[in-house]
Amino acid sequence: MDDHHKSIVRRSKVPQSASRPVVTPLYPSVVYASESPDQLDAIYEGELAGYSYAREGHPNATVLAEKIDWLEGASGGCITGSGMAAVSAVFLGLLGVGDHILAGDQLYGRTLRLLTQDLPRMGFSADLVDATNAEAMEAAIGPNTKMIFVEVVANPTLRLADMEGIAKLARKHNLLLVVDNTFTTPRAYRPLEHGADVVLHSITKLLAGHSDVTLGYVVAKDKSRNQLLNEAVVTWGLTPSPWECWLAERGLHSFDLRFERVQANAAALAEFLAGRSGVAQVLYPGRADHPDHARAKTMLGGNFGNMVSFRLAGGRRAANALTRAAPYLAFAPTLGDIGTTLSHPASSSHRGLTPREREALGITEGFFRVSVGIEDVEQLKREFGIAILAAKKAEHA
Ligand SMILES: *Cc1c(COP(=O)(O)O)cnc(C)c1O
Repeated sequence: MDDHHKSIVRRSKVPQSASRPVVTPLYPSVVYASESPDQLDAIYEGELAGYSYAREGHPNATVLAEKIDWLEGASGGCITGSGMAAVSAVFLGLLGVGDHILAGDQLYGRTLRLLTQDLPRMGFSADLVDATNAEAMEAAIGPNTKMIFVEVVANPTLRLADMEGIAKLARKHNLLLVVDNTFTTPRAYRPLEHGADVVLHSITKLLAGHSDVTLGYVVAKDKSRNQLLNEAVVTWGLTPSPWECWLAERGLHSFDLRFERVQANAAALAEFLAGRSGVAQVLYPGRADHPDHARAKTMLGGNFGNMVSFRLAGGRRAANALTRAAPYLAFAPTLGDIGTTLSHPASSSHRGLTPREREALGITEGFFRVSVGIEDVEQLKREFGIAILAAKKAEHA
């Protein structure tokens, strides 16, 4: 810049470097300057590669999306500002007034709320059906049904949807099959290879893995549907921030390593819990006593994941004692962090249900869900051992 044009507000040129950065640069820029109206036209028309405005897309989102595309065996996926933004994009982009959605009855809490309270207000309707039972799903298909929305592994009972049966249904009745793959991750299950039309993630959980990012991802198998999803994200403003995409990319680099470790830890912890007196039931899809163990074995390729649920023999008193005796195990309603977290569905995700409804799902006051982290497994066993003993004592005090 010659002196005549110098000003403190003029952006500096990025220094030239013959060498290149190893790490993806962070691009916080909201706007991208083009050379001329002709060039901008060409960018908007897709004839030239380029960005224009960050809500429409930015390099950090592109880099992250390509990595998750690769994991899911997809292309053209889209990063969203949260997992719920990805869920919203599916309904906003692919459905219209009067359309009916058939959904699993044990979905993520906010998805359930969206389906039962918010979408009906906007002219959509939804029915919730047990996704472990494809026949029950078929019976609920109506003339306006356009979409089936399921999670592969249900929260917090870790029941497995009958994905094979549901994919057949979707084909037979020409319904869009949407899979929220957050719990399973592409390491255990790749929905697009098993008949799904759309797959989505809360990147917030295992993919980013450090509880410091809120992001989502959505992709459709079909190119034109993918375009609709992308338009919905850009138009409704479901866009992610560059900084969070950058952080998530960094987290994703260790996803495979973390997954191996948390999965091995989860299997060992499930085994440990099953042997404790004071624990009435352990739910882990990798265990022979899990109600969907056979299905899990064929579906998940030996990847039973990091989530373990268990039921104390006692009630709320035992539950209170357990979390108080385990101050190092974060009692926090999330999952997929590097550190182990505990959640108590009766007081959090499932508090909206009546005790009888919870009972029907097996979610008692003594029910806990564990998102197993990468800690040393012997330490985890020690800490859980102490906590369960405290819970048992409290119940008998
Ligand atoms: C957390 C979660 C979501 C929502 O994701 P956010 O990033 O919190 O918006 C959706 N589905 C499942 C299965 C989840 O666990």
